[in-house]
Amino acid sequence: MKTIGVLTSGGDAPGMNAAIRAVVRKASKMEMEVIGVARGYAGLIQGDFRRLDSGSVADTIHRGGTILLTARSEEFRTEAGRARALENARREGMEGLIVIGGGGSFRGALHLHKKGLPVIGIPATIDNDIPGTDYAIGFDTALNTAVEAINKIRDTATSHERIFIIEVMGRDSGQLALAAGLAGGAETILIPEMPIDYDEVVRRLEQGRRRGKLHSIIVVAEGAASGLEVGQEIARRTKLESRVTILGHIQRGGIPTAFDRILASRLGARAVELLAQGVSGRMVGMQANRIVDIPLEEVLQGEKGIEEEVYQLANDLAL
Ligand code: ATP
Repeated sequence: MKTIGVLTSGGDAPGMNAAIRAVVRKASKMEMEVIGVARGYAGLIQGDFRRLDSGSVADTIHRGGTILLTARSEEFRTEAGRARALENARREGMEGLIVIGGGGSFRGALHLHKKGLPVIGIPATIDNDIPGTDYAIGFDTALNTAVEAINKIRDTATSHERIFIIEVMGRDSGQLALAAGLAGGAETILIPEMPIDYDEVVRRLEQGRRRGKLHSIIVVAEGAASGLEVGQEIARRTKLESRVTILGHIQRGGIPTAFDRILASRLGARAVELLAQGVSGRMVGMQANRIVDIPLEEVLQGEKGIEEEVYQLANDLAL
């Protein structure tokens, strides 16, 4: 294999640049050329390509976002759109493609693999909702951003003896909320994987107050309920006032942590090695600190549930 492509797709995640850099530098070492595709599958359909040499990824390892830009493409969901994308890839001499993104991006990648373009996926999403890998690129950075925010809010919560509700990202996944809640010492963590029991939320608030604790931190994943809803429900049941902070997009950007940079570097390099070996239709991931690869089909059929043991631990340690 002489020429491979690389693209980032779906939501951006800190560490995507470190992955692109690893792909480019590893390929260069293996005497392969890399074509960067701008704006994910949209750029593949439009033929928005640029050659990436070792120098083009200099000074990017510490930068959040993605130098290749990312997008969501409705056209790529159609047979005609994918046919155009494949035609462009072939015309450009792309013999393989590395897709850095989340589950949706891998569904697209699987189509390309089935049409004969060798593809390897690299998991990158702050949601960390991709099965087959302990961590996706970007999760650790987002987690640290959320914990830093909780630390700051905790100061005010303590000083004013108030209830603070912090809404974090996670439409379908409570991974970020659970980890941020545990690391941030939240009293209550609400996630989409578990039904919300407001009686229990109130019981925990009252139990805290009985033992002299006058402030409280509740972390809620956006997919479980909105922070405002939680605040209104608490007010309805207890007459207690709360303050709501929605962390929003500050969770997505920022300088990637060392963990995300190392993960991205390892996954990026392995993806290139696999393509060079003629492997396709697989995702690289990390399991127990080892880099592994699994079929994309298996990844897409699976579900990354939360670890109930960790959820229980967070609850046990909070009071
Ligand atoms: P994130 O976790 O940040 O949402 P993602 O990769 O899951 O990332 P999506 O928006 O779901 O993000 O998917 C990215 C792109 O992948 C879509 O815009 C679309 O072009 C392509 N895609 C998603 N699902 C499919 C599918 N079933 N068939 C073909 N292409 C798809």
